[in-house]
Amino acid sequence: MQTSDVVIIGGGVVGCSIAYHLGKRGIPTHVIEKDDIAMGTSGACDKAVLLQSKNPGIHLELALKSVKMFPELQKSLDTDIEFLNHGCMIVIQNENQWKVMEGFVERQKKLGLDVKLLDKNEARDRQPALSEDILGSTYSPMDCEANPIYLTLGLYRGAKKHGVKFSLGTKVTGIKLEKGRIKSVETDSGEILCKYVVNATGVYAPTIGRMVGLNIPIVPRRGQIIITEPVPKLIHGGLNCARYITAKFRPELLGTDEMAKLGVGLALGQTENGNLLIGGTREFVGFNKTTTHKALKAILKHAASIVPAIKNVHVIRSFAGLRPYTPDGLPILGEVPEVPGFIMAAGHEGDGIALSAITGRIISEVIADGKPSDDLNIDMTKLSLDRFKNVDVNEFRESHNCYSFAS
Ligand SMILES: Cc1cc2nc3c(=O)[nH]c(=O)nc-3n(C[C@H](O)[C@H](O)[C@H](O)COP(=O)(O)OP(=O)(O)OC[C@H]3O[C@@H](n4cnc5c(N)ncnc54)[C@H](O)[C@@H]3O)c2cc1C
Repeated sequence: MQTSDVVIIGGGVVGCSIAYHLGKRGIPTHVIEKDDIAMGTSGACDKAVLLQSKNPGIHLELALKSVKMFPELQKSLDTDIEFLNHGCMIVIQNENQWKVMEGFVERQKKLGLDVKLLDKNEARDRQPALSEDILGSTYSPMDCEANPIYLTLGLYRGAKKHGVKFSLGTKVTGIKLEKGRIKSVETDSGEILCKYVVNATGVYAPTIGRMVGLNIPIVPRRGQIIITEPVPKLIHGGLNCARYITAKFRPELLGTDEMAKLGVGLALGQTENGNLLIGGTREFVGFNKTTTHKALKAILKHAASIVPAIKNVHVIRSFAGLRPYTPDGLPILGEVPEVPGFIMAAGHEGDGIALSAITGRIISEVIADGKPSDDLNIDMTKLSLDRFKNVDVNEFRESHNCYSFAS
């Protein structure tokens, strides 16, 4: 039988980041991935490493710490992760949004984010493609981006270089306990004895949780994205809209029309090649990963109301991914006391790329040292599974249209 100190389940950006950090610490680690690297949500998402889209509080604190780690990753990984620090604007289209964003910006500033409000002319000077009808925007020079697939692959290759073993195309089918503690992981190609299991399976985390008797509140939140033909430089840095922030944190405030039901909010960026990535939606439709004509039309209509030139650009494809959503929008990180040796690292919603670096560091320190280092100053109770002890998980799943467990 194989043995390893740690078995990580999931070869997405989160699992690979944890593997990379554990590998660097010399801790014997084995990653089990049922498909291939970045075949889950980490391969069906945008490229934003954003700070502005984080709630002031532990959410933004984690993101600030994570973003600081990216320049070092860019240098030390042998894959170009296309990390760029070119800022982002959040477009404001009406007075109501202005009031909300004003408060949001003030609270973010208090936590150290360099962010300000721009009036219409200042916003259009910075981003000439913006419509004349906008009211203004926010701008932070601290926002960044990275290629999510290259980032995941870079962490995978980095982990392998540090001795981490990967079994791809291998599915975890069970977890065995001995006297209540982790004993081994069963896969479709054999059993691996281990001391720790890391559940880094994103939207599949509840299925893995059930293997050790845990009911984990994570449901899929679909996001649809459009890719256009390459066009000459149109968008400078990242561009989101205030509706995007509302759709993420307070969708009930969007109203009841079709756009609101789909959770449409703009997330726009341009690749090196010139293609536009236009997102997106936030929908609770179970594990359904198809794109819909209704949503793609709504995304384009909204995007063109902010950047009119989009009307003249051809769409070449679209895709959808599933964000792992928790009741408070924060990931679930750390060891679960009821099952010693079982570590959670899932539920990053629309922030897993941005938070991957800090997640890798936190979980590797939890395993190697028993807790994250004091200099990180992270209140792990705010990220624990235990914070949801009063949540009726079955009700949470059903009220978010999630009636099955992904296998
Ligand atoms: C449309 C969209 C846009 C987004 N844009 C951004 C963005 O701009 N910035 C950002 O920071 N985040 C963004 N996100 C969020 C980000 O993509 C996710 O938070 C992140 O990819 C989650 O990574 P993960 O490793 O937890 O999950 P995944 O990438 O899904 O990895 C989990 C892995 O576990 C494997 N697995 C599951 N069950 C088993 C099993 N039984 N045995 C073995 N393996 C198993 C799966 O095959 C999968 O590969 C976006 C998401 C979407 C959908």
